[in-house]
Amino acid sequence: MLDQQALSQSSCGDRIAKIRQTLPPSVRLIAVTKQVPIATMREAYAAGIRDFGESKVQEAEAKQQELKDLPDLTWHLIGHLQSNKARKALELFQWIHSVDSLALAQRLDQLAASIDHSPQICLQVKMEVDDTKFGWSPAQLLADLPTLNTCMQLQIQGLMTILPRELTSKESLNIFQNLHTLSVSIAQQNLPYIKMVHLSMGMSEDYPLAIQAGATMIRLGRILFGDRNAEK
Ligand SMILES: *Cc1c(COP(=O)(O)O)cnc(C)c1O
Repeated sequence: MLDQQALSQSSCGDRIAKIRQTLPPSVRLIAVTKQVPIATMREAYAAGIRDFGESKVQEAEAKQQELKDLPDLTWHLIGHLQSNKARKALELFQWIHSVDSLALAQRLDQLAASIDHSPQICLQVKMEVDDTKFGWSPAQLLADLPTLNTCMQLQIQGLMTILPRELTSKESLNIFQNLHTLSVSIAQQNLPYIKMVHLSMGMSEDYPLAIQAGATMIRLGRILFGDRNAEK
């Protein structure tokens, strides 16, 4: 187990190295850098981070300008995307984890075709009823699959979820396992344009449970960079 106290007093480079050692090689670590200053992002880069996750299009655009000299970065959009920013998002991000409705998927598909991009996509699922969060319910996602399978410009790679707050470990693990089960059942439909090879789940509080349940991408912010000033 990681010593949380010692970890919180070390530099971000040290934290990244320590956490890395505990991750299976199959798990991709996405450093969530919303509100994180550029200098700290450079430290993370020096510690080996190549995947940055941002929740806002504009913030990512400004940071990409400043980090232009780092050629081998992959940018992941993890926050809700308004359709008027969809084109910009396609220009800035290789991965969009937060595709949370059929309308958004179809819009991204059209725009991506028009600019000749084929973005990597996760479909965001809300495993519990929660009016404060975006995402498909499992039932609605299953109903929308045939239409999603016509979005041929999108490289749909799997599912993403964000847990409701304040769950017990057991509840969290259960939700992660349910997302995994859902992805297996979708994969069994063998839809040619819907791959289910990734599960984007797990944040600072709960990523070991997510990995236990089969996460392939974890999104870590605070455990690497410390607490953010204010949650939006
Ligand atoms: C902020 C955020 C994270 C990172 O959360 P931490 O608790 O800081 O690790 C992960 N995923 C999404 C979608 C987020 O908005």
